[in-house]
Amino acid sequence: MKKIAILTSGGDAPGMNTAIRAITKAAFHYNLQAVGIKDGYDGLMAGRFVNMKYTDVDNIIQRGGTILGSARSPEFKNKEARKEAIKNIKDAGIDGLIVIGGDGSFRGAKILAEEVNIPVIGLPGTIDNDLYGTEATIGYDTALNTIVSAIDNIRDTASSHKRVFFVEVMGRNSGFLALNSAIASGAESVLIPETITNIEALAKQIKSQNKGRRSSIIIVAEGDEEGGAMDIMRKIKPHLEDFRLRTTILGHIQRGGSPSYFDRALATRSGIMAVELLLDGKTQQMVGIKADELITTDFKDAIGKHAIPKVEKEELLGKLLTL
Ligand code: ATP
Repeated sequence: MKKIAILTSGGDAPGMNTAIRAITKAAFHYNLQAVGIKDGYDGLMAGRFVNMKYTDVDNIIQRGGTILGSARSPEFKNKEARKEAIKNIKDAGIDGLIVIGGDGSFRGAKILAEEVNIPVIGLPGTIDNDLYGTEATIGYDTALNTIVSAIDNIRDTASSHKRVFFVEVMGRNSGFLALNSAIASGAESVLIPETITNIEALAKQIKSQNKGRRSSIIIVAEGDEEGGAMDIMRKIKPHLEDFRLRTTILGHIQRGGSPSYFDRALATRSGIMAVELLLDGKTQQMVGIKADELITTDFKDAIGKHAIPKVEKEELLGKLLTL
């Protein structure tokens, strides 16, 4: 193995740059040439490859986003379009590929690995934490901290003006960001896709909570079955006529920012492991973390199984969130 390529794909996440740095440095360590592919699968199909120099990854450990660029490339789902990608990989003499992205990116990586016949390893880079086979994805911890700090600010205003706030957070069809930011911010309630949302029960809860209280914060996962924060506010309004309701959609601030210590450490450790897995001839595996140990999971399980937010002492937690 002489040349390994790296690409970042799907939604950007804090820590992607840290992973690119670790992979590049590990490649130099093992006398491999690291090749950066620009803009995810778009760049792979267009042949936008750059040989990474050691200095290209200076001072990026702390930067959010991805220096390689990312893209949503729907054309990559077409076999004909992937033939271009395969030709480019062969022409450039790439012997192995590391894909940093979410479940969609791994779906693409799995198909590509089967068609191109070079080893492909995945690093979970997504704020959503929605991948089976890891307790944390790269970017999740930073996004949680960003959300919690935004909710702290909203709480100041909510309690000054006696408001009920519905705060929408990202996470696609997964409730990790919503549930854990609700726990850490002391939110009064949380709506996640994994549980049934009952608007009338929520209205009742808000009414009973509000006796003697100056504010309520309800975290709404963007993928909740009843809709986002705007939908929830519209549906609940007739049940809460005496309340002043507001919504905040946190949006893309959740994706940006400097990675936390946790994300930097995770990205660095898993980036090095990804290079070593390629050298060992492993393929179609995702690097994850469990109880502080790096582990690997086959792509088919990482994308085929659903990760569910874990709640210990569910009953007590329910009380903390609803009393
Ligand atoms: P995030 O969870 O942060 O949004 P993601 O990796 O899930 O990240 P997607 O937009 O779902 O983001 O997927 C990224 C890219 O992966 C797609 O634009 C597409 O190029 C490729 N991809 C997704 N699904 C497939 C598939 N079934 N076949 C081939 N390529 C795919």
